[in-house]
Amino acid sequence: MRLILLGPPGAGKGTQALRLVAKYGLVQLSTGDMLRAAVKAGTPIGRKVKDIMEHGGLCPDDIVVSIVAERIEQPDARKGFILDGFPRTIPQAVALDRMLERNGRRVEVVVPLNVPEDALAERVRRRAPEGRPDDTPDAFVKRMHVYRTETAPVLDYYRSKGTCIAEVDGVGGVDTVTERIADALKAGQAS
Ligand code: AMP
Repeated sequence: MRLILLGPPGAGKGTQALRLVAKYGLVQLSTGDMLRAAVKAGTPIGRKVKDIMEHGGLCPDDIVVSIVAERIEQPDARKGFILDGFPRTIPQAVALDRMLERNGRRVEVVVPLNVPEDALAERVRRRAPEGRPDDTPDAFVKRMHVYRTETAPVLDYYRSKGTCIAEVDGVGGVDTVTERIADALKAGQAS
């Protein structure tokens, strides 16, 4: 299964991706995790994106696309994967389609995790002590704006292509949301 988890900052994409990894034996590909690792290791890419990430902006498409292109060719990603935090722009979605098409693959299902904005702000506030530099109020406002303007249209892109969209209510306990995702995936496969 090749699945995309789509959602605003604080919607629970990372948490749910880990659950789905355990449940379905897929690999999780989180561009946020990969970029944070690059920043920590001080690689040339890391040095380029550090400031952008701290302020809640989007890293350049070419950097993110090349990271994903390399990662999805690894043997463990051949069976299937969950993309968490990618694609975040339409050019990224188009690039992903192209790289998958080269091997006769495609995105099978997109799971939008729906959480209202006030609940998101509260979750991010609670997460702040975990030390993510982009969980400050200013960076959150910026990430929300970027989500609305750049990332939300990605859902319309997949909709217009006829990709299976499995909408999920992301408000509730972690287990409840995981169950909703599993149900939505079952329903999606049946239709
Ligand atoms: P995340 O952990 O998914 O919230 O990502 C944290 C930060 O990494 C984002 O706010 C962006 O600065 C950067 N980032 C992660 N994924 C992408 C992407 N697909 N495109 C551009 N920037 C990204």
